[in-house]
Amino acid sequence: MIKADNLSKIFYSGIFKKCYTKAVDNVSFEIEKGQTFGLVGESGCGKSTLGRLLLRLIEPTAGKVFFNGMNLFDIRKKELQRLRPKMQIIFQNPESSLNPRMKVYDSIAEPLRIHKVIRSREEEKERISNLIEMINLNPEHLGRYPHELSGGEIQRVVMARILTMTPEFLVADEPTSSLDVSVQAQILALMKELQHTLGFGCLFISHDLNLVRHMSDRIAVMYLGKFVEVANTGEIFKGAVHPYTQALLSVTLSSNSVSEEQRMTVEGEVASQVNPSSGCKFYPRCPRAEEICLELEPSLQDMGNGHLAACHLSDPG
Ligand code: SF4
Repeated sequence: MIKADNLSKIFYSGIFKKCYTKAVDNVSFEIEKGQTFGLVGESGCGKSTLGRLLLRLIEPTAGKVFFNGMNLFDIRKKELQRLRPKMQIIFQNPESSLNPRMKVYDSIAEPLRIHKVIRSREEEKERISNLIEMINLNPEHLGRYPHELSGGEIQRVVMARILTMTPEFLVADEPTSSLDVSVQAQILALMKELQHTLGFGCLFISHDLNLVRHMSDRIAVMYLGKFVEVANTGEIFKGAVHPYTQALLSVTLSSNSVSEEQRMTVEGEVASQVNPSSGCKFYPRCPRAEEICLELEPSLQDMGNGHLAACHLSDPG
């Protein structure tokens, strides 16, 4: 349903564009209908930029994105507007998606009115009351303003707004990062239930590998704009081969859940993405680095069963 093909985004700065940052670097993947593709990595690794590229909220430097076979960067504005309701996003900070001066009812009704998908006020009321029930809010919430709601309630209202358009594809960009842990669990359970009922495809972005595991069918681990490992969820947790994925697993899971072979710790900060040097981007932090890693950048290799990894020391097959 959604297919990214060699997608890249470079941000230029400085006089004569001498400085550049490769926020997304030659990334390809597909998301099927009803599937959740998890994207995990440290802050600033390009996850959100990739999410925005998939919806054409920003233009790429290179590459294509196909939505139901149509290249989003090739179509006219009018056609893109027609597709917009089918492709939605939940942002990190749900409050910013709602107008503070609009009551919940009007916030939910707004997309229905803009896209003229209802014929009468009665139909609008009925649709909104169904949606409210779907996202487990009470009718009394409809008369409130955003500042009168809790974080979890605001996220539910945002979801109701999105559902008015019956999306086929959803980007969930750290949708629960601003919520308490107990509320997080409720929102994620609701998202799963809605996906099961409505069948939309989803890109689930998070820096928390446990959340991504819970939500995703397939996971991509991103480091400095590149995918370093991509595999089905079970495969990542059983047989991660990239040192960075192994380091994420070592800090995420309890010590008995990680095999001796997989246990890995890395030190230091994420390197700057500005004017990156050649070789493996993980080289400065990798405890397994060898000379070749500094000279040659590894590309994603299929290790079998669609398990991809970009590391010179991985053994395909
Ligand atoms: Fe480490 Fe080398 Fe593999 Fe990069 S290619 S992750 S530096 S071992």
